[in-house]
Amino acid sequence: MIKLYILLGGNLGDKQQVFSEARARLNQQVGTITNQSAIYETEPWGFESDDIFWNQVIEISTAFSQEEVLLKTQQIEQELGRVRKVNQFDSRIIDIDILFYGDQIIKTENLTVPHPRIQERKFALIPLCEIAPELIHPVFQKSIRQLLDECTDPLKVEKVTETHNS
Ligand code: ATP
Ligand code: CA
Ligand code: CA
Repeated sequence: MIKLYILLGGNLGDKQQVFSEARARLNQQVGTITNQSAIYETEPWGFESDDIFWNQVIEISTAFSQEEVLLKTQQIEQELGRVRKVNQFDSRIIDIDILFYGDQIIKTENLTVPHPRIQERKFALIPLCEIAPELIHPVFQKSIRQLLDECTDPLKVEKVTETHNS
């Protein structure tokens, strides 16, 4: 079994409902959820929008290959109603990114793991640091805590109040 870390993101629709549905489908189709961070509210990264983002990191134990995980997560995005737009950074119902697949380093046409922008994004590092501060990034050979300490991303990332979590 491989330990997989996934980042959920979304800023449209009923985020509570969409995140809960995404977790249920990940648990059924990708592997058992073994841990999850709180949900964080974050300012949009890379573009302007009035719709604040939610982000959450999920730890999953999976038996699927990285390519299978990518296909399944993309299928879940579609099932939940994600429409792909021309602009890369845009509002969306749900975005499911693969952050880490065990300690493997993967670079294919469709997949780069660890996700290439983790270290630049507090909205990924803060929830990751909540559940896996000692995890070592296999490319930089630094812990998540260290990467967060060194990250200069100025955008605000705040925990959503407990009642909205889980
Ligand atoms: P970003 O990757 O900067 O977070 P994004 O999530 O908005 O941007 P998408 O439009 O969701 O980008 O995905 C574009 C492509 O990225 C996907 O079609 C997928 O093949 C590829 N991709 C590469 N590495 C990963 C990864 N680690 N997790 C998810 N998708 C990936
Ligand atoms: Ca993303
Ligand atoms: Ca994505």
